[in-house]
Amino acid sequence: AKRSGRRGFRFYTNDLTVEAAANLALESQLRRAIERGELELHFQPQVAFRDSEVLGSEALLRWNRPGTGFIPPDQFIPVAEETGLIVDIGRWVLREACRAAAQWNAGGARHTVAVNLSARQFQSRGFVPMVEKILAETGCHPQWLELEITESLLLDEDDSVAYALSAFKHMGLSIAIDDFGTGYSALSYLTRFPIDTLKIDRTFIQKVTSDRRHAELVKAILSISRCLGHRVVAEGVETMEQASFLNVYGCEVAQGFLYSRPLTKPEIGLLPRYLTPR
Ligand code: C2E
Ligand code: CA
Ligand code: CA
Ligand code: CA
Repeated sequence: AKRSGRRGFRFYTNDLTVEAAANLALESQLRRAIERGELELHFQPQVAFRDSEVLGSEALLRWNRPGTGFIPPDQFIPVAEETGLIVDIGRWVLREACRAAAQWNAGGARHTVAVNLSARQFQSRGFVPMVEKILAETGCHPQWLELEITESLLLDEDDSVAYALSAFKHMGLSIAIDDFGTGYSALSYLTRFPIDTLKIDRTFIQKVTSDRRHAELVKAILSISRCLGHRVVAEGVETMEQASFLNVYGCEVAQGFLYSRPLTKPEIGLLPRYLTPR
């Protein structure tokens, strides 16, 4: 912000006050939203590149606000993280996702549900036993749940993250690195933590067929992953060209609008086993 003279400075402080007030209002609305059951989980299918078989889905949070409609997570999760509300919301998300997985897999299917976690949840007391309790209560087998974390969490010096991840691994859950390539990628963490899946960020996938450098980078990520035994999910696949590139270079799993947008829980229940790319 520019502080040009007294007027400019006053304007700047006013802006901050307005923003703080807006966040405060959002916080109390969000608190009520939880109580009133206005939060909803949608699920975006993850499919095998080879034959478009549905392997699982990612749980994505939506706020269905009366009179406004669906509010995307980017508009309220940052406030939930700042205020710590994400701990309660995250617990609700985990329970809903586990409940859905238990329901979809009841007949012997194997549909894995991926859940996004925030750093604040790892810092909350009793996080690991809470996850264990939710699995038991919902009848969700650990193999049906994948936890998505971001690279920045692994750079945290605090060893509570390392402890939690190895505990989750022991329980039989899988761990995915979300938005891979956008953080401070320190490749060493790939060998230090029990990681199963890398999710290549949409910004790389978008340019894979138009920009040689991005293409080479994605090929290199796929080659490293193959050597280290990581499963790779390509995020935000929108075109057939992207899909065939990724398939040729050995990427196994696709998530993106080419196959499906995020769907409601009943819609996932009705999904065919194989999706047709559109
Ligand atoms: P994310 O984890 O990277 O999730 C993928 C986002 O990309 C989703 O946006 C999804 O709808 C969108 N997407 C998927 N395929 C395509 C595509 O082909 N093209 C384009 N343009 N977009 C695609 P969404 O649902 O708005 O979620 C935004 C972010 O909010 C998520 O990014 C995640 O970081 C966060 N989030 C969502 N649910 C939760 C949650 O339960 N807990 C936490 N902590 N964060 C969440
Ligand atoms: Ca994610
Ligand atoms: Ca992502
Ligand atoms: Ca993202």
